[in-house]
Amino acid sequence: MNSDSCIFCKIVNKEIPSEIVHEDDELLAFRDISPQAPVHLLIIPKQHIKSTEEINDSNCHIAGKIISLASSLGRKLKLNSYRLVFNTNESAGQTVFHLHCHLLAGRQMNWPPG
Ligand code: 5GP
Ligand code: ZN
Repeated sequence: MNSDSCIFCKIVNKEIPSEIVHEDDELLAFRDISPQAPVHLLIIPKQHIKSTEEINDSNCHIAGKIISLASSLGRKLKLNSYRLVFNTNESAGQTVFHLHCHLLAGRQMNWPPG
């Protein structure tokens, strides 16, 4: 899938609506349309990166920024426990091929995950 047909690029470009909780030059954070926990946010780069498979030494600052934003949203929302998840490729559960970090909180999380 290229960026023209990517649903998260459309969310970045405001072509489809979302409940945005943070926006800056490089990142967007918004509520998941099908929440799996009382708090379920998606943190994405504005740039179309397919998955963690495309993270390398030249663009890894974006991964740091995503985790830093997750930490800051955790503080802002006063979350004392949360889980960050990057699904990479189909059998790991990836359905949208634009890099995203799930921030899940507000219920007991099980380990190992299903
Ligand atoms: P994945 O399964 O790829 O790790 O996660 C994709 C997530 O994107 C899913 O949790 C799904 O509910 C969410 N999602 C898919 N389409 C939309 C949408 O149009 N808007 C929002 N806010 N979330 C979406
Ligand atoms: Zn995209």
